[in-house]
Amino acid sequence: MIDTKEGIKISIRDNLKAIEENINEALVKSGRQKDKVEIIAVTKTVDVDKIKEVLDLGINNIGENRVQELLKKYDILGKDPNYHMIGHLQSNKVKYIIDKVKLIHSLDRVSLAKELDKRAKCHNICVNALIQVNVAEEETKFGLKVEEVIPFIETIVSKFENIRIKGLMTIAPFAENPEDIRWVFRTLRQLRDKIAKENFLNVDMDILSMGMTNDYKIAIEEGANMIRIGTALFGKRNY
Ligand SMILES: *Cc1c(COP(=O)(O)O)cnc(C)c1O
Repeated sequence: MIDTKEGIKISIRDNLKAIEENINEALVKSGRQKDKVEIIAVTKTVDVDKIKEVLDLGINNIGENRVQELLKKYDILGKDPNYHMIGHLQSNKVKYIIDKVKLIHSLDRVSLAKELDKRAKCHNICVNALIQVNVAEEETKFGLKVEEVIPFIETIVSKFENIRIKGLMTIAPFAENPEDIRWVFRTLRQLRDKIAKENFLNVDMDILSMGMTNDYKIAIEEGANMIRIGTALFGKRNY
């Protein structure tokens, strides 16, 4: 149980149940009953006890947006959970996480790809990455513009053989009414479909990582199969 500031007790178990019900509802609503949606538990600022609780409930994907914090949690929780790097990644920190993460959601520039490829080669592995797309072109957010994505993929494919592109990721603008940002998710899905048709070497478009606490239902209706959830699972973050 978590004590919120308001003194209300919430349980991670109940939260997860509600999220799973919402996921199913959104899948049914959009005619995707047979599809699966993977939940990434976003554990930034969340302490280890609560993360263990969520792991015990069967969630095996942890998302962190800072390298330092990811490493701290990796030290304690070990290598069993799948670690997802969901935040902006500085090239000089790639070496610390290259052999620890299942998926990098924030590939957004050639210099980062170069470093990922180099460090992956050192470990004799391929690194899995999603391309982050700034669909709404917000100045405060990282990511490529929609029209930059295919040329970017062409560069990656021709230069970096130890990178496997697995799909696309976006962070939608905050909207009081998430219906207002449905177009963002739809645009990313259409881009995914377009890229998938090109059959690039070492590229598949299996993953659409989109949707957070405020907008995951709409994101799923538009095709998300990976959602990144913090607040709805753990309650409000105290920064
Ligand atoms: C914090 C964060 C999330 C989760 O946000 P909530 O609104 O708490 O669900 C998802 N994706 C990224 C990239 C984040 O930094």
